[in-house]
Amino acid sequence: MEKSPEVIHCQHTVAAEVSCVGVSLHSGDMVNMFLRPAAPNTGIVFVRKDIEGATNVVPATFDAVTETTLGTTIANKHGVSVSTIEHLMAAIWGAGIDNLRIEMDGPEVPIMDGSSEPFTFLLECAGRVQQRAARRVVEVLKEIRVEEGGSIASIKPAEDFVLEVEIAFNHALIGSQKARYDFSETTFRQSLARARTFGFARDVEKMRSMGLALGGSLHNAIVVGEDEILNEGGLRYADEFVRHKALDCVGDYFLAGAMIHGEVATRRPGHGINNKLLRALFADASNYRIVGGDEVDVPMQIERTQLDERMSA
Ligand SMILES: [Zn+2]
Repeated sequence: MEKSPEVIHCQHTVAAEVSCVGVSLHSGDMVNMFLRPAAPNTGIVFVRKDIEGATNVVPATFDAVTETTLGTTIANKHGVSVSTIEHLMAAIWGAGIDNLRIEMDGPEVPIMDGSSEPFTFLLECAGRVQQRAARRVVEVLKEIRVEEGGSIASIKPAEDFVLEVEIAFNHALIGSQKARYDFSETTFRQSLARARTFGFARDVEKMRSMGLALGGSLHNAIVVGEDEILNEGGLRYADEFVRHKALDCVGDYFLAGAMIHGEVATRRPGHGINNKLLRALFADASNYRIVGGDEVDVPMQIERTQLDERMSA
């Protein structure tokens, strides 16, 4: 039997620059954000345009994570930080973008509607261009497992990225939910992009009094009351809560600095344990192998976006 030639997966960046403006969840300030093309092997980098000089670049990598309580915050060695990056990171992963420069004029990524969907749409509008470098992939070689409080996370070798998430909340409207996403069979857009972040009505006043969630509203989070969902229209998926936790995992695990080929299984995940697992994975060079990154000769290929098709129809 003839052996089919091996498909080379190339790195991609956006084909055009796109921008959005939105409120940040915790400070309540408006933030302008531009997504611009970046060269092969750049990875995902944030640039704080409100800070002058070369100290304003913050690469999105697991070892830059400084805070995980209300979202994932990264900072560079100058202490310049960007917070609440996870929903945007998930959308970038879902769009198959390897290299991107994200310019912002504030310290927090806009919350938009509390999901990844607005960023997914933005990236589809931008379109995608193939670059002359093989995609960098982190191949997991061994099973690694970490625990923290009541949370567990593990990763083991797999052909693609697979995510199994279980949540357990002591609230009748959420309870226990479990789901498995094999991204060789489903897409981020289909399964997870629209799942919104959530919070409990009983916590809202407490957070406000601490100066947090000032930009939070029913427009950017599911608000769970004592016995009902307070948002008009209810949930977007019956199991939107576990889907959102999976979305957060996609964003947090993309901080590996490249796409991971491995199967993550996690119970009661959070930004803290997601980061702890990545740090454990990269702590020992025998746990993983990074492939790709080398130059390949491919034709320049720009993928048309849904928007192009709609406009030319
Ligand atoms: Zn989230």
